[in-house]
Amino acid sequence: MNFLPTDEQRLAVEGFNRFLETKLQPIVRRYQPDKLIEKERMLEIFQLMLPYGMGGNGIIAEKHGGMGMPWLTYALMYEQLARVSGDVAISLLIQQLGAYSLEVCSNDAMRDKYLPRMLRAEIIACSGISEPGVGSNVAEVTCRAKKDGDLYVVTGEKTWISNGHYSDFCMVIVRTSDDGAKGLSMILVDRAEHGYDSRNIDKLGLNSTSTAQLFFDGVRVPAANMLIAPGAGLKNTLVLFEKARPMVGLTSVGIAQAALDKAVAYAKERRQHGKPIGAHQLIQGMLAEAAIELDAAKLLVYRAFNLIDHGVRCEVESAMAKCYATEIAVDVASKAVQIHGGNGITKDFGVELLFRNARMMTIPDGTTEIQKLIIGRALTGLNAFS
Ligand SMILES: Cc1cc2nc3c(=O)[nH]c(=O)nc-3n(C[C@H](O)[C@H](O)[C@H](O)COP(=O)(O)OP(=O)(O)OC[C@H]3O[C@@H](n4cnc5c(N)ncnc54)[C@H](O)[C@@H]3O)c2cc1C
Repeated sequence: MNFLPTDEQRLAVEGFNRFLETKLQPIVRRYQPDKLIEKERMLEIFQLMLPYGMGGNGIIAEKHGGMGMPWLTYALMYEQLARVSGDVAISLLIQQLGAYSLEVCSNDAMRDKYLPRMLRAEIIACSGISEPGVGSNVAEVTCRAKKDGDLYVVTGEKTWISNGHYSDFCMVIVRTSDDGAKGLSMILVDRAEHGYDSRNIDKLGLNSTSTAQLFFDGVRVPAANMLIAPGAGLKNTLVLFEKARPMVGLTSVGIAQAALDKAVAYAKERRQHGKPIGAHQLIQGMLAEAAIELDAAKLLVYRAFNLIDHGVRCEVESAMAKCYATEIAVDVASKAVQIHGGNGITKDFGVELLFRNARMMTIPDGTTEIQKLIIGRALTGLNAFS
């Protein structure tokens, strides 16, 4: 066990941090607190991050045109991105996992058609699972893909789709038969070629990135776009969740780090009762609790990625990382607001935005409750889902 980053990891993070402070920070500031970054600008940002492996190319194998980075190295850099912009981080998370899905859960034709353009950050992907009536229980998906000769006709609505309004294509979870979870499949629908509509959603936080409703109204899609054979179910996509969940946790770690940094700086500068508020014991107590929570969250997330790099399945460790990191980030950001007093609830100091952003993350990729049920199932051998 080694808690020190390697030289390679340290240098990668340092170089990327210089980029974040000098290039990305000035761009994202213009959109804060709640202005949507335009699609063209988001693509431009991805393109600027490509040389660092942070434009959707990082963890894709070199033989497929990516940089073949270890997940943990990628994660350490992603954490810094989330510290500077949770919005760009979420967009990249979806883009990177979209590229990874094409690499590992796709067919050669779809991979060859879409992956190269993603690796040049020319197009944006999204993943369509949730529906107005379907959230935690994916097995209840109703969006239909009905076979019609060489085509599938896709009909249904998806909601809360990150990158949805930006998206050039969506990997849509569809129902091909009424056989419960086994009747689910995944099809790639191209906005320009096949056509679907989107509507951006106004949210509590993370409004600088798109979360959208998608509408598929009898969309005719070639059968070759079916990424998972009907009847196979979604078992193969579980490896994607194992990676997505600690990455969502890491987004929260970055947001919480930004909140703690602001709280520490403010506590040293703001004076009450004749001294900096940071010299009062109760303020130090809050800062210490936040720092402990944040470090514990980091360790859980790093462990998950370390296991992933070693090819070890880690459903439970991923669930723990996602569950804990997203929950403590809400607490850390809330403490940062408290330490800022009245200034904390204004738009001028940035911590209210971090609090709102942190509050978003306990929900996607399996809510806190769903993560606990995964952990509880492993502990007891009893399945609370059935
Ligand atoms: C920021 C953000 C980004 C998202 N991005 C995407 C995306 O890109 N693609 C996509 O498809 N979806 C996305 N989602 C949707 C997300 O995956 C769902 O919101 C999530 O799965 C929860 O579903 P729901 O909102 O329908 O809540 P519900 O499933 O209706 O849950 C409501 C409440 O009931 C609880 N609950 C549900 N079942 C149980 C149970 N068995 N036991 C105990 N409690 C339970 C939940 O924990 C929650 O508290 C995103 C959501 C957010 C907030």
